[in-house]
Amino acid sequence: MIAAPPSPAMVRPHTVDAALEHLAQPGAAAVGGATWLMRAGLRHDDMPARWVALDAIDALQTFKVEPERVVLGALVTHDRLATGLPDDPALRALVVAAGASANPGVRRLATLGGNLCATGFAAADLMPALLALDATVDLATPQGPEQSSAEMFLQRRSMPGPWLMTGARVARGGGHSAHIRLPMRKAGDYPVAIVSLWLDLDGEQRIRACRLAVGAVEGVARRWHRVESAATGHLADPARIEHLAQQHLDDFAPRTGLDAPGWYRLQVLPALVRRAVEQCRKGA
Ligand SMILES: Cc1cc2nc3c(=O)[nH]c(=O)nc-3n(C[C@H](O)[C@H](O)[C@H](O)COP(=O)(O)OP(=O)(O)OC[C@H]3O[C@@H](n4cnc5c(N)ncnc54)[C@H](O)[C@@H]3O)c2cc1C
Repeated sequence: MIAAPPSPAMVRPHTVDAALEHLAQPGAAAVGGATWLMRAGLRHDDMPARWVALDAIDALQTFKVEPERVVLGALVTHDRLATGLPDDPALRALVVAAGASANPGVRRLATLGGNLCATGFAAADLMPALLALDATVDLATPQGPEQSSAEMFLQRRSMPGPWLMTGARVARGGGHSAHIRLPMRKAGDYPVAIVSLWLDLDGEQRIRACRLAVGAVEGVARRWHRVESAATGHLADPARIEHLAQQHLDDFAPRTGLDAPGWYRLQVLPALVRRAVEQCRKGA
């Protein structure tokens, strides 16, 4: 029989301030759904010595749908995002990202906070969706609350703690979004490439504003600013934007993994961009 590794010390604070105090201890890590942490050994990562379970902190469970925005606590699960968000074309990328990730059992456990804070997780689905939706990420620190754009958060999350992601806010100010991943849905597999897109189109399908994010291709998701700039002001023509993506593939240094070689991730990317544009147009 294979023995389980020794259990780490676990605390279960009821407030954000208490969690921050525990996170200041050496070797401490926050625990959301533990779906990433539980596989630390398989990735040959160090298992944190102290687990600070967040599940008893009510303030991290927020799920508010307001006319202008949605306010989400860090403990909101993928399942809740997939099933509880309104049918709003602007939010579609987030709903699809949450619903296409992992499998139903994992989606009921995995949290928004865990997805955004798992620094080694290249194929996280929610991260590119929140980049495309230009979400605001909320943090708690001993010096007080902080907020940053999803894009800035990618740098912030590598800085030393203690800090806790408390939630994210997403505007509902119009536009259409889409989330396309390869494979689209296959339980247990991480996607080899992800495209999340938000478009604001005028009555003639011309792009007024555009945010395009790519996940899984490099180690960390990011916006594809050169394609965004080249697409803005022009018709949302899927073939044209696919061509723009093809022209700018050298923006990426793709990673090679057991699931796919780097060249393959790049090869599929323009077609994913085209499909994302098609989906945004379909909803428009
Ligand atoms: C078989 C399998 C397949 C999966 N496939 C996918 C997939 O295709 N796409 C996808 O997106 N996800 C997938 N996941 C789920 C993935 O693990 C989660 O999406 C997510 O990254 C982890 O959420 P969690 O709450 O379980 O995080 P945890 O494992 O609890 O934590 C992850 C990291 O974030 C930190 N952390 C957690 N919460 C906070 C917080 N509030 N503030 C600061 N730091 C925090 C932890 O310390 C840890 O470093 C899969 C999981 C499994 C097991």
